[in-house]
Amino acid sequence: MENPIATLALDGGWLCLDFINTVSARTPGLGTEYLNNWDDLRAWVRHVGLFSENEWQRWQALPESNIEEVRAFREALYVLFEHLSRKGTLHPKHLDAFNGLLHEVYPHTQLCLTDNGLRRGVSEAPHPEKPLWLIALSAEALLLSDRLTRVKSCGNCGWLFLDTSKNGTRRWCNMQTCGSQMKAKAYYHRKKGQ
Ligand SMILES: [Zn+2]
Repeated sequence: MENPIATLALDGGWLCLDFINTVSARTPGLGTEYLNNWDDLRAWVRHVGLFSENEWQRWQALPESNIEEVRAFREALYVLFEHLSRKGTLHPKHLDAFNGLLHEVYPHTQLCLTDNGLRRGVSEAPHPEKPLWLIALSAEALLLSDRLTRVKSCGNCGWLFLDTSKNGTRRWCNMQTCGSQMKAKAYYHRKKGQ
C-alpha cells in the first residue's frame, strides 16, 4: 500500500508550511500523525520534490536519524507560525527557539550562485538531516519576506498556509476540501436554526 504521506495535500504554499502540515488536523485529539518513522520522512521528501530523483536515491540510502527530533523540530515551527497566524506577530520565546535551530543549521549552509543571483543553500554532501536544514532555511526565508503577514491557519483543520489571494481574505487551506466542508456545516446550522 502506498504511504499516505506520499499523497498528502500540499496546500501550505511554502515548503516549511507543508512540512508543518504533516499532521492531518491541528484540532487537539483529532489529528492523525503522518510522520511516524523515517520511511515516512523519506516518502514526504520525495513527494514534495525536495531533491532530484538521483539525489533522493542517495539520500534515502543514508542511515536513519531520530524521527522524534524531526517531529520536535516541526512542532517548534508550528508554534512559531501558528502564533503568528493568530496574533499577527511572533512570540519572542518562539523566535528564540527558532534562532537556536538556525544556530545548528547555519554551519551546514553556504551561499550558492544561481541563475537568479545568490541564495543560501546547504552543502552538497549527502546527510540524513539535509531536508531539515532546507526546511529551516525555508522558514527563515518566509520570516524575512514581506509575505509573513499572509501566514494563516485554516478555519476548519488548522493547517497553516500562505494566503496568496489578491485581497488576503482566504480562510481555508483548500477551498475544495475544507472550504466546502465549512460551507456545508454553515448551511446545516442555518437549516437547523429555522
Ligand atoms: Zn483546512
